[in-house]
Amino acid sequence: MALKTLNDLNFKDKRVLVRVDYNVPIKEGKVTDDTRIEASLPTLKKLLSEGSSLILMSHLGRPKGGPEDKYRMGPVAQKLSELIGQEVRYEATNGPASKEQQAFVEKAPKGSITLLENTRFDSREETNDPELSRILASYADVYVNDAFGAAHRAHASTEGVAKFLPGAAGYLLEKEISTLSKLLNNPESPFKVIIGGAKVSDKIGVIENLLDMADEILIGGAMAYTFFKAQGGKVGKSLVEDDKLDLASDLLERAKAKNTKILLPSDSMCAQEITEGVETKVYPSDDIPEGWMGLDIGPEAIKTYQDSLKDAKTILWNGPMGVFEFSPFNTGTNEVAKTVAHLDGFTVVGGGDSVAAINKSGLADKIDHISTGGGASLELLEGKTLPGVAALED
Ligand code: ADP
Ligand code: MG
Repeated sequence: MALKTLNDLNFKDKRVLVRVDYNVPIKEGKVTDDTRIEASLPTLKKLLSEGSSLILMSHLGRPKGGPEDKYRMGPVAQKLSELIGQEVRYEATNGPASKEQQAFVEKAPKGSITLLENTRFDSREETNDPELSRILASYADVYVNDAFGAAHRAHASTEGVAKFLPGAAGYLLEKEISTLSKLLNNPESPFKVIIGGAKVSDKIGVIENLLDMADEILIGGAMAYTFFKAQGGKVGKSLVEDDKLDLASDLLERAKAKNTKILLPSDSMCAQEITEGVETKVYPSDDIPEGWMGLDIGPEAIKTYQDSLKDAKTILWNGPMGVFEFSPFNTGTNEVAKTVAHLDGFTVVGGGDSVAAINKSGLADKIDHISTGGGASLELLEGKTLPGVAALED
C-alpha cells in the first residue's frame, strides 16, 4: 500500500483542509517555541503556490471537550501569520464545528488561510465521531494530513475526516513515514539501536520488533535495572518495574536465540538522591548497594557503547541514558549524543526527551532525521500501522 502524497492530488482552486500539529507551548498569550509552526511551512507554501485556500486545524493542550480560553488558537494564528507573511484568519469560537465557525469558514476568500478553533474543544474529536468528521470535511474539497505527532490516534481530524475527502500526506508526515519505514524494512547493516528512558514497559514493543532487524541493542536509562534485577543483580533502590522481570528475562533469551546482541551498561553513576550537586559514586550496575540508585550509565559503559557504535551504518536512538535533567547525570546522554552526531552512518533520533536532549546539546543538525512524534514514532517502530496514515493509503 502506497501513501498518497502532495504529488498525487491537484490543489488548483481547491479548498484544502490541513491537519497540522500546532500543539505548541504558550505563555501569557504568546507562543514560546514555534518549531512546529515553522516545520509546517513547506507544506502550506506548496499548497498556496498551487492556488488553493487553506483551512487549518490542530489540537492544543488538553481541554476537557469544551472551550477553554487558555487553549484557544489565537496566539498560534498570530505566530503563523508572522512566519508565513500573510494574514491568518481566526475567530474565537465554541469549537471547530460550531455554527459561528461554519459561517466564518464560508466567508474565506480565495487564497486565504483560516485557522479553526482547537479541535479538542469538540468532545467528538477524540471519539472519532463521524458527524464531526463530516462537518470538518464540508469545509473543503481535499484533505492533507501533516500532523505526524497525532497520526497514531484515530481521531475525527486525523482519521475520520479522511473517509469523506480525497486525502494525502504533507511533507512532514511523508518524511517521517518514509524514513522510519526504511529503518524497519531495509536498514544498512550493522544496524545499532540505543534504547533508554524510564520504563521497559514503554519500549518493550519497540525492542521486540527490532530484535529481528538490529545487530545490536544498547540499553541505558532506568530500564537497564529491570534487566539486571531479572538476572539476579543487586540494584539498590534504582527504578525497577518488578512486574516486568519475567518479560525482561524472556527478551534476553529471545535476543540470544536470534543472535541479536543486547548490551547492558556494565557500570552506573549512582547517588542516594536525585538532586543537583549530590555525592555520586560509580558501581557495577549489578552490584549497587542498598540506599543507592543508578541514575546514569557509568564511564566504562560509555566507552563500551562508543566503541560499539563506531562501525554502525544505521543508528536509531530513543530514550536518554540517565536522568539527564540533572547535571551530574547527563554525562551518558551527552556522550552518546556526541558520538551519534559524529558517526558516518544514517542516524535517527526519536522520543520527546531524547529529542530535547539532542537539541540541548546543540548537535541536532548533525542528525539525519529527528522524529518529532513521540508516541507515533514508538508505535511505528513497534511495527504497528498508524490509523492516520492508513487512512491516506491507496
Ligand atoms: P523519551 O521521551 O525520549 O522516549 P522516556 O520518556 O522514555 O524518553 O524517558 C525519559 C525519562 O527517563 C527522563 O525523565 C529521565 O529522567 C528518566 N530516566 C532516565 N534514566 C533514569 C534512571 N536511571 N533513573 C530514573 N529515571 C531515569
Ligand atoms: Mg518522554
